[in-house]
Amino acid sequence: MNSASDALQNTLKINEIFYSIQGESTFAGRPCIFVRLTYCNLRCTYCDTEYAFHEGEERTLQQIMQEIKEYACDLVEITGGEPLIQKNVYPLMTNLADAGYTVLLETGGHLNIAQVDPRVRRIVDIKCPSSGESDKVHWDNIALLTDLDEVKFVIGDREDYEWAKAILEKYNLNERCPVLFAPVFGQLKNKHLAEWILEDRLNVRFQLQMHKYIWPPEQRGV
Ligand code: SF4
Repeated sequence: MNSASDALQNTLKINEIFYSIQGESTFAGRPCIFVRLTYCNLRCTYCDTEYAFHEGEERTLQQIMQEIKEYACDLVEITGGEPLIQKNVYPLMTNLADAGYTVLLETGGHLNIAQVDPRVRRIVDIKCPSSGESDKVHWDNIALLTDLDEVKFVIGDREDYEWAKAILEKYNLNERCPVLFAPVFGQLKNKHLAEWILEDRLNVRFQLQMHKYIWPPEQRGV
């Protein structure tokens, strides 16, 4: 057995794999295969995927690649939980990029993104104060961002908004990559965030968790 096929026998604990509409990035609206990995070492106040903290089953990379292939879609998002906790996520992303997929990675922004395959588009959260986890932000990641990547602020109130705006300016984030501002679903009114962005002439992308408007917000696998 050669080393490439050896790597395919490595396993990852998978919470779910499903096909849906990408709802939370500049790819929003496109059909996409989601691979949700188990485990997260944050506990955001607004977390909507607590079921991914522990639930899941081990699958080989080969099984995961096969399941992805069956959907006949060229866009794949690796998400969680926090997908960078399991080290075998790195060969999975490389295998997917080698196979010609456009690969998105959604990460909480508290772990180093340096080892991610450079073909992967990294969507990096910067956790705002109301998440309860803003002291965990791995600020060194900002220097690694390229125009392939995206930064996302999930905003729960006016304090979060002002905090995100200050970070945007401090690090000139707009010069690095697209910047997404999203309201916490059910907590901050969409209209309020949209109006604040317009009043301040902020060069950011307002976005909603699109899947929560298409299907019931608590529905899994969408
Ligand atoms: S990083 Fe994501 S999965 Fe982890 S607690 Fe926060 S919202 Fe939930």
